[in-house]
Amino acid sequence: MNLDFDDEAIAFIAEVRTFVRANLAPETKARVLLGHLPDREERTVWQRALVARGWGAPAWPVEHGGPGWSVVQRYLFDEVLSEEGAPSAPVFGMSMLAPVLMRYGTPEQVAVLLPRILNIDDWWCQGFSEPNAGSDLAAVRTRARLDGDEWVINGQKIWTTLAHQADRIFCLVRTEDAPKKQEGLSILLISMDAPGITVKPIITIDGAHEVNEVFFDEVRISAGDIVGEAGKGWDYAKYLLGHERTGIARVGQSKREIGRLKELAAATVRGGRALREDPVFANRIASLEVELRALELTTLRMVSALHAGAPPGPEANILKIRGSELQQDVAEAIMDAWGGAAFGPTEDAGGLEASPAVAAAMTYFNLRKVSIYGGSNEIQRNILARSLLGL
Ligand SMILES: Cc1cc2nc3c(=O)[nH]c(=O)nc-3n(C[C@H](O)[C@H](O)[C@H](O)COP(=O)(O)OP(=O)(O)OC[C@H]3O[C@@H](n4cnc5c(N)ncnc54)[C@H](O)[C@@H]3O)c2cc1C
Repeated sequence: MNLDFDDEAIAFIAEVRTFVRANLAPETKARVLLGHLPDREERTVWQRALVARGWGAPAWPVEHGGPGWSVVQRYLFDEVLSEEGAPSAPVFGMSMLAPVLMRYGTPEQVAVLLPRILNIDDWWCQGFSEPNAGSDLAAVRTRARLDGDEWVINGQKIWTTLAHQADRIFCLVRTEDAPKKQEGLSILLISMDAPGITVKPIITIDGAHEVNEVFFDEVRISAGDIVGEAGKGWDYAKYLLGHERTGIARVGQSKREIGRLKELAAATVRGGRALREDPVFANRIASLEVELRALELTTLRMVSALHAGAPPGPEANILKIRGSELQQDVAEAIMDAWGGAAFGPTEDAGGLEASPAVAAAMTYFNLRKVSIYGGSNEIQRNILARSLLGL
């Protein structure tokens, strides 16, 4: 295993960085660096710039518009974009639904839906979780029944990220009763403007509107708006959730944020000296950097193994745990570096106009989510206990 980058990789990094610096709108970058989600318009502008360059879908096969990159190039691309403050890819369509359609979709779904995902003509959201069906996802109770040539859907989804901005939702629903709860599930493709859908916001602890409840009341869609075969939805859901692995640790993002932490610690004077001269705080920064380096090396080991053709192993679960913990620890250190300013003056209402100090506190609270979504860290540990220790 060779973890050093060769000349080709170094040239690739430089090419990507030059492109990002020349094409990413400064306002979008500023918003990402403050920890805010870029809005749909900003993401679309950025995505279309990438599409024009041929880089719109790094992980897709060439025949669907991918650039034909190796797993190493894809990793480097993601990392450079994160470091530079570019908006992340629209994950639900691009990294979740698209691979499933490529493998299990009809030729018509592939021909119609993939280009629309690539260009963000359709903004997709993911309707999997429900009250009482999160970690235990197969317990979903939203039901769909066939009525002639239509599915009729009733039930509720929860925590649906950006449902309020989405055009379409892919939903895991129960279409048959079966002895095993993993059987009888299907994935349906539903337009968000279908009559009978209600979206209700959930305001998270940072004051942001990112997630929603989505209710379905006799919602009707065409019988053809299903992925693959009815009743096989659990297999497709597992494929969908396991597909994208290399970016899971968010190394680029943590690298960028530790850089910001160091700048802040250098510029902040506390007790008559720069915060970075405070041995306790300096030790904290050093520990975060050591953690980051370990995470990066583990990621590179996984990327190197995947590049050599090995199947994905338990590293992905380790990376999810350590990557999310590091993101949270760095955000906490940045908030602590701001000190009382992070609570803000009362006239600072937060939101998109928040001062950098208040934005740091919002990010700290917002990042509680990263150890929950995509399979909580406890669930990741369970998987590791089973796969590595045989427990
Ligand atoms: C910000 C955010 C965005 C999200 N976006 C989406 C989205 O777009 N679409 C979507 O479908 N879902 C989304 N989710 C839902 C997410 O996938 C679930 O929250 C997650 O799977 C956990 O499920 P739960 O919330 O039902 O918690 P529960 O499953 O009820 O778990 C509660 C607690 O118990 C622990 N726990 C549960 N089972 C076990 C076990 N067997 N062993 C040990 N500990 C256990 C969990 O780790 C957790 O700490 C999002 C969640 C968040 C927070």
